[in-house]
Amino acid sequence: MVLREADLEILRELGLTHTVRESKKARRIILKVLAGPRLEVVIPAGLDHRRVPEILARKKDWLAQAVKGMGNAGAAKKEGWTLPREIPLRAIHRRVLVAGEMKRTGMVHLEEQGESKIFISGEIQHEQLGRSILHQWMRHQAELHLPPWLQRVSRETGLGFQKVQVRRQKTRWGSCSARGTISLNEKLLFLPPHLVRYIMIHELCHLTHLNHSARFWNLVSRFEPQWRELDRSITQAGGLVPSWAH
Ligand SMILES: [Zn+2]
Repeated sequence: MVLREADLEILRELGLTHTVRESKKARRIILKVLAGPRLEVVIPAGLDHRRVPEILARKKDWLAQAVKGMGNAGAAKKEGWTLPREIPLRAIHRRVLVAGEMKRTGMVHLEEQGESKIFISGEIQHEQLGRSILHQWMRHQAELHLPPWLQRVSRETGLGFQKVQVRRQKTRWGSCSARGTISLNEKLLFLPPHLVRYIMIHELCHLTHLNHSARFWNLVSRFEPQWRELDRSITQAGGLVPSWAH
């Protein structure tokens, strides 16, 4: 359901984006200005949509006031938490759709529906519960895919390691210890495969040279001649991680 061009003129003037929702409960057209600022137009089910422009025009001053108020008080306030619609696991070429159903149960439940859909039900409007179930699922996906991948890169390059673990580091994509343990960040799943592979080679090479010396980079370049470019891309890759995943 969309508004027509003529209706949008007023909204554009006010710098408002908008959504339109039909409601069985609403008895009249309801206008809500939300953070963003965004206008939510609630229309009673069955009502003639042609009445909307007239109402917007009549409410123009009120809308302008509401937007102004939003700018002062609400600009810094972030939008309420909602589940992501999809999770782009670029590393494994998978886009996972997220469907949610609100239930007052005090908890959340996640169900995988095939390879590319998850269904989350329960108190999904509760940010902490929502995030934590998504984190759990991400960890599970990362455990499933990253260690075997590191194993393959290790075999292919002949660079060995002792142990691998998956974590959710704040600032690093991967790290390694003197004992030969490689830690991989679960958020690597949001990066394209060639960057994940680069991180793995980088960490595996650190097990030979625990520094960023010329000898270290020399070793990296044997397996990844494009390392300079990859290393640059990796510093900008943080933007590929959705905020809920941190
Ligand atoms: Zn390094």
